[in-house]
Amino acid sequence: RAKGLGKGRCAIFDPEMYEKALTLLQTERELRLALERKEFFLCYQPILSLQTGQIQGLEALIRWQNPERGFVSPGEFIPIAEETGLIVEIGKWVLQEACRQFRAWQTELPQIAALKLSVNLASKQIQAPNFISTVDQILTNTGLDGSYLKLEITESMLMDQGESTLELLKQLRYRQIMLSIDDFGTGYSSLGYLRRFPINTLKVDRSFVNGMSVDSENFEIVRTIISLAHNLGMDVIAEGVETAEQCDLLKSLGCESAQGFFFFKPLNSAAILAELMKI
Ligand code: C2E
Ligand code: MG
Ligand code: MG
Ligand code: MG
Repeated sequence: RAKGLGKGRCAIFDPEMYEKALTLLQTERELRLALERKEFFLCYQPILSLQTGQIQGLEALIRWQNPERGFVSPGEFIPIAEETGLIVEIGKWVLQEACRQFRAWQTELPQIAALKLSVNLASKQIQAPNFISTVDQILTNTGLDGSYLKLEITESMLMDQGESTLELLKQLRYRQIMLSIDDFGTGYSSLGYLRRFPINTLKVDRSFVNGMSVDSENFEIVRTIISLAHNLGMDVIAEGVETAEQCDLLKSLGCESAQGFFFFKPLNSAAILAELMKI
């Protein structure tokens, strides 16, 4: 590493930036290979009704097991996949695989007829010009009815593109696909804006849920988000529920649903199948 370049000095060759670019390129190459070599798989985290305690849905979460790196968390590689654009291909694989798997469970297990499948989307995925036809193709190929699918987007994805996003979301709703806002409260969405979009569910970010039993500010934030959602005709999923106390507080606030380690960690497909067979 070159030393002695004072802060604010303009360097033509910035070793730190070079290192960053190199890591990015290397990881991009590894992610591309990971798709080819089928190193990705999906885990599913149950979402429960707080009223009945029953599983009402599953959120698909990607996992990467690499022979050299071992397990790499999505928090680490998803941002790189987004930056390099590879997220479009990876996200397509996720949607295809989740719909295929969920449809297979539906045909095997009539008791899960009321369950929904949630899948995370990235900004570049919905900006891709063929996104809607990709969704149509996947639903047709897998035989999954759109009404069983819930897509998770973030606040920033609503704010980024304005009108074109509104049009796209309407296209999804027209196919009976439901829409959730993930990590709600951490982004910068304006409330007036939120009202214009056909959103079904707000997912309260786990940072607020985490602190709600010890910190009255977090409790107030969660209470406010729940009442906002209800006023806009949306329902609420609390993310990251880890204790019985959080669970009770959320129930008392009228929160419909929850997911978190208190109920289930994300489980691989064999473990999920075992849980679904108990229903
Ligand atoms: P997310 O969509 O908000 O997913 C919830 C994350 O919280 C998951 O982390 C889950 O394992 C974790 N979690 C659930 N309950 C608890 C809890 O009680 N306590 C704690 N501490 N954590 C809990 P994961 O699987 O590591 O995923 C992290 C993020 O990566 C996801 O956040 C999502 O933004 C992104 N991601 C995961 N899979 C995909 C994917 O297929 N596509 C895209 N675009 N993003 C994905
Ligand atoms: Mg999510
Ligand atoms: Mg979330
Ligand atoms: Mg999150």
